[in-house]
Amino acid sequence: MALNLVMLGPPGAGKGTQADRLGKAKSIPKISTGDILRAAVQAGTEIGLRAKAIMDRGDLVSDDVIIGVVRERLDKADAQRGFILDGFPRTVAQARALDTLMNGRDPLVVIDIVVPEAALVERLTSRLVCSNCGTNAEGVSVSAMDTTPCVRCGGKLKQRSDDNEAVVLERLKVYRRDTQPLVDYYRSRPTFRAVNGAQPMDRVYEDLAEAVDSAASGGALGGAVR
Ligand SMILES: [Zn+2]
Repeated sequence: MALNLVMLGPPGAGKGTQADRLGKAKSIPKISTGDILRAAVQAGTEIGLRAKAIMDRGDLVSDDVIIGVVRERLDKADAQRGFILDGFPRTVAQARALDTLMNGRDPLVVIDIVVPEAALVERLTSRLVCSNCGTNAEGVSVSAMDTTPCVRCGGKLKQRSDDNEAVVLERLKVYRRDTQPLVDYYRSRPTFRAVNGAQPMDRVYEDLAEAVDSAASGGALGGAVR
């Protein structure tokens, strides 16, 4: 059975990192729309060229184009045994389109990584990166920023510029506004699971892997889930 996974979770929940790790463990690709959009543009596919024309005009890429790009990506050989979607769907319209793409495939497993807002703000505003090479500094507190060099190049650490509190709160507000309807759309499915993201990364990963396995087998037992 293919593992067709959608991961939801606010910025700063560590979703991308967890998705990478799970994708490696399950030998399925992690697919983010930003990455495949760039790849489609580079490969010069028809949909990629459409996307490029839209972006060159400075417009936002429409649902139609995003869905087309996702469809192309999910049709590739490496996605037949499953995939992890990170950052898609973002809207209920996209989620409906994704359900259509799932016709004839195993049911979607949907994981929502839940982190209280206060913990997210704390986490996001305390993120440090190297001012020289851009590497994330893991486990270094803001107070130790001036005395701890980058592990890769020895450069000076700084706070990420988009991580000040007002910006973070705005990003979380946008996320809630856009994503809550999506969570509501999926919540009643037997293959939906919420995972507590306010734990150390390894614990989150354990809970995630367990939730995915239980949702995938539950979905199979339940038969048709839509
Ligand atoms: Zn560095």
